[in-house]
Amino acid sequence: MHSQKVILRVAINTPLRRLFDYLPPADYQGNKLTPGLRLKVPFGKSGEKTGLLIEITDSSEIEPNRLKRISAFLDTEPVIDRKLLRLMQWAADYYHHPIGEVTLGSLPALISQGKPATKKQIKYWRLTQAGKSICKSSIKNAPVQNALLNFLKSDPDGISQDAIRDKFTNWDRPLKQLLAKKLVEFYYRDSPDKNDLYSPVLINPNEEQTKAINTILSYKDQYQPLLLNGVTGSGKTEVYISVISEIIKQGSQALVLVPEIGLTPQFINHFRSRLDTHITILHSALTDHERMASWLDASNGTARVVIGTRSALWTPFQQLGIIIIDEEHDLSYKQQEGFRYFARDVAVMRAQQEKIPVVLASATPSLESLFNVHKNRYKEINLTQRAGNAQMPDINILDVRDNKLDGALSKSLLEIIRQHLDKKQQVLLFLNRRGYAPVMMCHHCGWISKCPRCNIQMTFHKTITRLCCHHCGHQEKIPSKCPECNGEKIIEIGHGTQRIMETLEANFPDAKILRVDRDSTRRRGSMQNMLEQINNREADILVGTQMLAKGHHFPGVTLVGVIDADQGLYSIDYRGSERLAQIITQVSGRSGRADNPGIVVLQTHHPDHPLLKTLVEHDYAKATSLIMKERSQALLPPYSYQALLRADANNQQLVNRFLNNAKKQLNKQSAGIEVYGPFTAPIEKRAGRFRMQLLLQSENRNQLRKLLAVWVTNLESLPDARKVRWSLDVDPQDML
Ligand code: ADP
Ligand code: ZN
Ligand code: ZN
Repeated sequence: MHSQKVILRVAINTPLRRLFDYLPPADYQGNKLTPGLRLKVPFGKSGEKTGLLIEITDSSEIEPNRLKRISAFLDTEPVIDRKLLRLMQWAADYYHHPIGEVTLGSLPALISQGKPATKKQIKYWRLTQAGKSICKSSIKNAPVQNALLNFLKSDPDGISQDAIRDKFTNWDRPLKQLLAKKLVEFYYRDSPDKNDLYSPVLINPNEEQTKAINTILSYKDQYQPLLLNGVTGSGKTEVYISVISEIIKQGSQALVLVPEIGLTPQFINHFRSRLDTHITILHSALTDHERMASWLDASNGTARVVIGTRSALWTPFQQLGIIIIDEEHDLSYKQQEGFRYFARDVAVMRAQQEKIPVVLASATPSLESLFNVHKNRYKEINLTQRAGNAQMPDINILDVRDNKLDGALSKSLLEIIRQHLDKKQQVLLFLNRRGYAPVMMCHHCGWISKCPRCNIQMTFHKTITRLCCHHCGHQEKIPSKCPECNGEKIIEIGHGTQRIMETLEANFPDAKILRVDRDSTRRRGSMQNMLEQINNREADILVGTQMLAKGHHFPGVTLVGVIDADQGLYSIDYRGSERLAQIITQVSGRSGRADNPGIVVLQTHHPDHPLLKTLVEHDYAKATSLIMKERSQALLPPYSYQALLRADANNQQLVNRFLNNAKKQLNKQSAGIEVYGPFTAPIEKRAGRFRMQLLLQSENRNQLRKLLAVWVTNLESLPDARKVRWSLDVDPQDML
């Protein structure tokens, strides 16, 4: 150790698992240094990078004369406070991910690039009244102008010029032409938020809601995780809003995390109309400047409520008073690449550090959270009734064994659909498979359409008449002849959402049918558009994947049909049954949420399956206790903790050798830890790379964590470590 006066320990966005030591600049006057300041530092052969000051110490392992000086301070005040910094350090440690990627990677792009942490006026474009009316008819021979009009239509508050530039290559002239025609106008504002929706409607919380609100508020100044376990339609959003309204009255701020798909205008408008305060939204469609503006508003306390997806967890606050995690069971809280953190778990840690309550809410809580309730770590609050006049729907099993199917729909289901349409009610059909047919096959030799890069079947998409790989995005033309035998009869096997549409169109020619899946909602604003159509009753039948199953409130829907309830019943992943119970309960929960009672129909070939039977009785608790028993017997999570070392390369032997050597490193020191593998991943090959993994499991979380800490650094020194791509997944949520 070499002792010096002031050594700055700096995080830099690199894959190296360490901090870097620097000296202050030559003209340093001894002024106060605080962790969380950004710096410009010399790095590598000739370059400079933005760093984040983590620690100030007085010694370094590096010889004093080899230490470089930082080039400049970028801030006078830290961009994040010590508590948030500590949380990031904890996460880097827990997930064994490089500290520089964790810290700088969690900041808005402009901040991590070293741009000034100040807001600038952002230019927004929006439709004029004339623009709104012409939108429907469209301008002749001006495709770009029409596209621009349509794009602007998706947000009445306007769209920033940056977002337009991101989307259109040639936008400048057409936009000016629209301006000259007075169809669009522009204005400036310094934040993406606007709240002119506020219109206080008093909802009287019912008895259960009142109790939930009071219980949560009774913990307002201390750390307490609470599981708000409330059936679908029980009015959980009302509970959040009442609690937040109290919390912000007392001068604190609130963070609401929602799943990727949960950030619907409906959900946000609910908050905006009920809370007379600055609410900011953080989601992936924001431009860099908008994101920074929202982030700064939260940081300086202007925004009192932040609603955002996973990464909003890393927002700095002046004084955070509560964290709410909506649909806490949702997998989108887990980042599945790079820094593989689980926002739900880190949020609980954040609440602990901030000494505030954290509410995990769901109608279908994860087994992990239920287990924590069982262990008295979390407090459970139940909402057992639907709010208002709504009743829980009746769930019926429809045994389709030996039934003649029309497409994938049984005659009985078609008949029930007809009855609901006759009553002018809406129908929602759920099938978690997009595209037309999941595979194409040669009727002569049995050849199957496989992705050349992944070695798994490709889905036929009829809308674009191509075969698409859902794993790597590879697309191909449909072969006119079988590539194996030249046979001319290539048939579609199985059903996706596009194919269901065809059956429905044939059976209900007068009905307006809407397909909601990833393909039909790619364009910005299209999801919002469809939600509007559904809620304005412009659509009669909705066909969709899980995008449609989660969280939405569609008052007109009285029939939910699950086309294939067996999907996931016999999954290779041990979490398959938990996911199935969640998705069936959630999609069922879309039925009968308003005054008209609803029903649910589950098409299945396994009518006696014990799990399906519990779900029919609305007994998610019983379903989970069945699953919990299996997990306990097999010592699977939450009864144990896992870490997965994934590796892939173009050469399978290389991956195998790397993982075998990795395993050898473990054998010496892995008492109390089971090591399984190496085995090939369920998706053996993806985008041309062979994939294998090694699974570690232990009943002792700390022991596993300690072992991993040593192991990752050892892994880096393995001879193949730079030839294969590898990553460590702590608490993996799937093995894919
Ligand atoms: P959840 O998120 O629990 O599924 P929501 O929060 O979407 O349920 O509420 C379902 C519906 O019930 C919404 O339309 C909401 O406005 C309404 N609602 C909630 N609480 C009450 C109440 N106390 N009285 C009447 N209606 C309510
Ligand atoms: Zn063939
Ligand atoms: Zn592929």
